[in-house]
Amino acid sequence: MGRKFVVGGNWKMNGDKNQISEIINFLQTGPLNQDTEVVVGVPAIYLDFVRSKLPQNVGVAAQNCYKVPKGAFTGEISPAMIKDISVNWVILGHSERRQIFHESDELIAEKVAHALEAGLKVIACIGETLEERESNKTEEVVFRQTKAIADKINDWSNVVIAYEPVWAIGTGKTATPEQAQAVHRSLRQWMCENISPEVGESIRIQYGGSVTAANCKELGAQPDIDGFLVGGASLKPEFVNIVNARQ
Ligand code: PEP
Repeated sequence: MGRKFVVGGNWKMNGDKNQISEIINFLQTGPLNQDTEVVVGVPAIYLDFVRSKLPQNVGVAAQNCYKVPKGAFTGEISPAMIKDISVNWVILGHSERRQIFHESDELIAEKVAHALEAGLKVIACIGETLEERESNKTEEVVFRQTKAIADKINDWSNVVIAYEPVWAIGTGKTATPEQAQAVHRSLRQWMCENISPEVGESIRIQYGGSVTAANCKELGAQPDIDGFLVGGASLKPEFVNIVNARQ
């Protein structure tokens, strides 16, 4: 079976109720390609509000969660809490979590494993910095980040990988379709060889990094790009065009 195209919007720490109502409005109006799965990553405090307003054809994701169900972890939220408000997705390992909040490969893998156990679907983000790319370490880095997760989980059916080169996030510098395709292809190959051919062929790999309405069609036409994770443009009506990139 083919891999269903999946487009995520990562609102990051943006939006208030007014702006969120505008986003909900353009998502409701769409029209959104029914062959594309759509998920929006919402600040924790607005998850319940957004889930109650959005139609069910749009999934909602938390942007982070902790690695245990409950306890003395002030300021954290658990997958159980996310599930409790009917939110079914979480984004984990975003480069801003890795870089600003110093989340390690191991912590992210523990979070992924616990979120899956709790019944959430996970968008797991990986990607190299500019320095790593320039020293030809892109594959080494994305394989290492993926292996950390592979060491902790067996079932990949509820995982989407987001390949997001750090140098392309929020910079306006998009990877070329060829650059992105090359990394997606070798990551899929690595997963076929190191996890299983079934997982490698069925896993959906999103590209993220300055995706816009202007560049999404060419990126989305690459054979190993199965969708996008979109930051800045997910706050704007052009997000609908990105969802519909394959139309
Ligand atoms: C992101 O936040 O995951 C992202 C890719 O951001 P942007 O689209 O703004 O580069």
